Amino acid sequence: MIFLDYYKKIYNNQHVDGFRLQVIYHIGMLILLASILVPPFREWLGFGWWFVLWVFIVQRICGHYSTLFYHRMLAHNHFTVVPWFERLVVLLSPFALQGYPAGYVVVHLMHHKYADQEGDPHPPVSATRQRWVNLVFPFLHDSKELELKLILKFMRRPAQKFITKFYWHMVAAIAVALCVINYKLLFIWIAGTQLGIFMGYILNTYGHNPPQSKLFFWKHYRGEKETAHKAVNLPGWSLQGRGENWHYIHHTYPQRWNFHPDAPAGKLDQNAWIIDKLVNLGIAKVDTPW
Ligand SMILES: [Zn+2]
Ligand SMILES: [Zn+2]
Repeated sequence: MIFLDYYKKIYNNQHVDGFRLQVIYHIGMLILLASILVPPFREWLGFGWWFVLWVFIVQRICGHYSTLFYHRMLAHNHFTVVPWFERLVVLLSPFALQGYPAGYVVVHLMHHKYADQEGDPHPPVSATRQRWVNLVFPFLHDSKELELKLILKFMRRPAQKFITKFYWHMVAAIAVALCVINYKLLFIWIAGTQLGIFMGYILNTYGHNPPQSKLFFWKHYRGEKETAHKAVNLPGWSLQGRGENWHYIHHTYPQRWNFHPDAPAGKLDQNAWIIDKLVNLGIAKVDTPW
């Protein structure tokens, strides 16, 4: 069973929290699929379009939360926020159920450091990996050693040590609380948050072109072509991508907080629009023009 082999691999080679997140991810995907495709489950759940709608809404919120705060704020320091706001953002992370920030940050910084070479934790294609592995096993990472030195400074940020230690306690408490209020909320929570991870990994997976890729028509879409890495922009993904779909721009200019290709002309991508609003509210600060 190829599926079980992958489970064994992730259990043996990866960080224990990666394994936990992987199991939760599959539970979320199964709930979502079963709520649409399996009539007895659907009836037991009292399926209606409200369920799908809420899953979609939770997915949107989680996608914005992780791309804006985990990616642009915590991993890349594209903007800074006042300390109380950062503490609040970090302490809310168990609600988004995307893993604690330190895990995301170390994996993502390794992705930038080794993009398109050996050492990338989630290459779209490698000797042992096909694109579907990225989507079905997003927490199965190619590199076995996490370079923890990349997050030494990061761990000194507000609430990071606390959340890394107590993340799973808080997740368990939220799960129990949702069950007590209404078990349907638990299903919406797990399916919605995990659909958010799926969407993120579509970006990761198709945001890079392996050497033998047939997807050449996407190559460096609306970006300059003369660099070593193989990141691409994803046309048509602007709504789901929250601006992160300008993946090539982001890899080429990793210090930019605004990934819009026309940023110098004042255009904002979706997440940059939110950053701009946070700046206007006096909550956030950016040090570069774009
Ligand atoms: Zn990045
Ligand atoms: Zn990338």
